[in-house]
Amino acid sequence: MTSYDREKLRCYCCGKSSEQTVLMSTNSFGSPDLDQRPAGMARSTIASRLLECPYCGYVAGSIDRGDAKARAFLDTAEFRAASLEPFSDPAARRFLVRAAQAAYEGDRRAAFTYMLAAAWVADDKKQTSQATAFRLRAAEQLGDGPIRSIDTRLELLDVLRRASNWERAAALADELTAEGLGHPFAPIVAFHRRKLAAKDSGRYTIQEAHRRERGNDEANAEMLKLLAHHLQKRRTPGSPT
Ligand SMILES: [Zn+2]
Repeated sequence: MTSYDREKLRCYCCGKSSEQTVLMSTNSFGSPDLDQRPAGMARSTIASRLLECPYCGYVAGSIDRGDAKARAFLDTAEFRAASLEPFSDPAARRFLVRAAQAAYEGDRRAAFTYMLAAAWVADDKKQTSQATAFRLRAAEQLGDGPIRSIDTRLELLDVLRRASNWERAAALADELTAEGLGHPFAPIVAFHRRKLAAKDSGRYTIQEAHRRERGNDEANAEMLKLLAHHLQKRRTPGSPT
């Protein structure tokens, strides 16, 4: 059950109070998408994840909390640039501001996640080209250096595929395949490879990727059984094996 409440919050950065709609509870039953967007009711709460102070523009999950770094960020050119991005959707812009803050603080993974959330907002609004642009910007947040986390690389693979960046997505899929990852990662990489071959930029869940791969395993096992049976029948008793 998703519930909201109206609360008067005092901004951590400027000290002024404002009425805010605060997300109190939700659920995420079901499989997340391949880019970790949650299922269930949590899916539709994306626009309420971040609050914004109407006076100073501070953006946070709870604007009554923060730290010195968050306060200092409000004085940067990066904050001003993100605040002034020309998007009509306030939820997407809040994620952009937060992504800029994470990037400023050197947290590439968080910057990627916030930028990706802006793409989800655009997805919901059926702003396809905007969603693609946000996905490409999310990928940029991770930089060109090596990424150690498998989870982040799998999310990046989905981000690139959904942005129709086939070349980069295929290169990443090849790289992940060459690493010989086991379960639960390998079926996801294999699933992406099939979608990339079909130039499919659609949205799929982690469960769908695993289900289809399991289906293939079952089909393969069935084929091996048939083959063994076939070979057995061909073999005559007493013949060399
Ligand atoms: Zn404020």
